[in-house]
Amino acid sequence: MKKIVLAFILILLSGFTACSPLPGKAGVSLFAMDTYMQLDIYGSQADSDAAEAELQRLDKLLSSTNPESDISRINQSGSAKVDADTYELLRRSVELCKITDGSLDITVYPIVKKWGFISREYSVPSQAELAALLKNVGYNQVKLKDGTVTVPKGFELDLGAVAKGYAADMLKKLLVEREVHSAVLNLGGTVLAHGEKPDGSKWKVGVTDPENTERYMGVLECRDTIVVTSGDYERFFIGDDGKTYCHIIDPKSGYPAANGIASVTVISPDGTQNDALTTALFVMGLDRAGEFIKSRGGFDCIILTKDKKAYITKGIEDSFIIKNEEYEKLIIDG
Ligand code: ADP
Ligand code: MG
Repeated sequence: MKKIVLAFILILLSGFTACSPLPGKAGVSLFAMDTYMQLDIYGSQADSDAAEAELQRLDKLLSSTNPESDISRINQSGSAKVDADTYELLRRSVELCKITDGSLDITVYPIVKKWGFISREYSVPSQAELAALLKNVGYNQVKLKDGTVTVPKGFELDLGAVAKGYAADMLKKLLVEREVHSAVLNLGGTVLAHGEKPDGSKWKVGVTDPENTERYMGVLECRDTIVVTSGDYERFFIGDDGKTYCHIIDPKSGYPAANGIASVTVISPDGTQNDALTTALFVMGLDRAGEFIKSRGGFDCIILTKDKKAYITKGIEDSFIIKNEEYEKLIIDG
């Protein structure tokens, strides 16, 4: 009899664990990769600590401004043996530069610096200055061999356009390994919506309104995906000529992209690709971006223009809810 009672209690207990109460929430705010981040994890404090440590580890490897990072070591001496993660991200980045025909170019750093986007001492360079610096830009000059990265003299790398997307991919892996089923990690414009909410409903990810960055232009309902936005409002300055210059550079001209696009959001489970494409589509402009989206596929996309048009791919037509009715909704038909 005792045995039966014990077995019954055990069954009850195991039954209890199987549909256990919702997991606890562990959250942390931090500064990494030049931006504020907020991690909300339905798991333990140890899960949250591990995610934070992973972000700081990647930041140390990939930052162009930390003189000890892998990227800085390449930039300082032209060649360096790098960590496996740095190597893998560089390999993928070069591939994405190719796919986007150089609209993404991880060697654009000398130009980014010239405009003052790193020092924050902004100024408009002359055509001649830009032409001289453009000689030191070209992703196809980046050589990757056996864990060593080499660039020609005068070239410098910048993974600012892809690092947060890669970090989202790595954090996804970490959460899966730790058996965390529910988390939303906001890495500053890059959101990992992992699994779904503990109650089984979808995550709601806000897309910033470029006209008023305190508000959301719309909300995307999603699960198990990565949502990346690049906007001209993230970093910009107004030149002596009264014009606004943003931090996304057209690597062919050396000038900041100024084509009527205000922000690009790319949605798919591939964070590195999404981050690369937000920058690249921004540079391409509406027409070329439209062609690229239709011909390539494999991701969803929201492009907001300065004249308040919202171009949205069919895949998210129903799950992206526009909050600012001033925007005209247009469907990108793939
Ligand atoms: P954010 O980092 O603000 O989310 P992006 O992902 O678009 O925005 O990355 C922009 C950063 O990438 C810039 O700050 C600059 O360092 C770098 N960058 C700018 N233009 C390009 C480009 N065409 N290709 C690659 N990197 C770029
Ligand atoms: Mg990007």
